[in-house]
Amino acid sequence: MVMAASRDTYPNEFAAALRVNRRGIITELIMVPGTISGGRKALMHLYNLPIDFSIVGSVHSHPSGNYHPSEADLKFFSSFGRVHIIVGYPYDLKMGTWAAYDRGGNPVELPVLE
Ligand SMILES: [Zn+2]
Repeated sequence: MVMAASRDTYPNEFAAALRVNRRGIITELIMVPGTISGGRKALMHLYNLPIDFSIVGSVHSHPSGNYHPSEADLKFFSSFGRVHIIVGYPYDLKMGTWAAYDRGGNPVELPVLE
């Protein structure tokens, strides 16, 4: 779903919040108004999210293909949630051009269940 949304949004950046179910599995993307917009500002709209403890982090795309966090990403990660996914162009799950990071920007393992 993230890969499809990222492809649809290309060459702009896609961003959404991640919501977990009661078992702690990320099952839902929360779109925040304004997140699908041009350039590098997509992530910033997530600051407008309401306080909701089922929201555990964020996902956003990097049209450049580099899926490492930028300085701005690191600042954002440290402010919010506990897991953050970056997907890099060409947004292909099989190619593995994505990674999950903790609040400190350290890579974490996040198994894909489907
Ligand atoms: Zn980024």
